[in-house]
Amino acid sequence: MDREFENCLQCNKKLVGRDDQKYCSLKCKNKHHRKNKTNSEKAQERIIKILKRNQQVLKDVLGEKNSMSIDMHKLIAQGFDDDYLTHIKKSKMKGYDYYYVFDYGYRKEDDGTVKVVKAFQ
Ligand SMILES: [Zn+2]
Repeated sequence: MDREFENCLQCNKKLVGRDDQKYCSLKCKNKHHRKNKTNSEKAQERIIKILKRNQQVLKDVLGEKNSMSIDMHKLIAQGFDDDYLTHIKKSKMKGYDYYYVFDYGYRKEDDGTVKVVKAFQ
């Protein structure tokens, strides 16, 4: 059986392995895939990264507590980006809007602080 590719699709080095080999190394394979990602995939990855960081900031400030109030500036200082959220839920009792990043969220208080919470379920 003839080789499908003579040379690495990424670095053009001559291939010597299996006949269906396309890359000389895993490094070249990953590099090639990264290069060929669509803009949508890149945007998705970039936003997911921000969301994960936001989730981690909320998780870190809340710790073992059920809820805690903090100045939004302090969250931002820790890397939180309040432009990126996953969903909004209205609380049943008082109708507050809770802004969520996956399972952690917050609501804005009248005094300018935010109340950080973990999702109920
Ligand atoms: Zn290569």
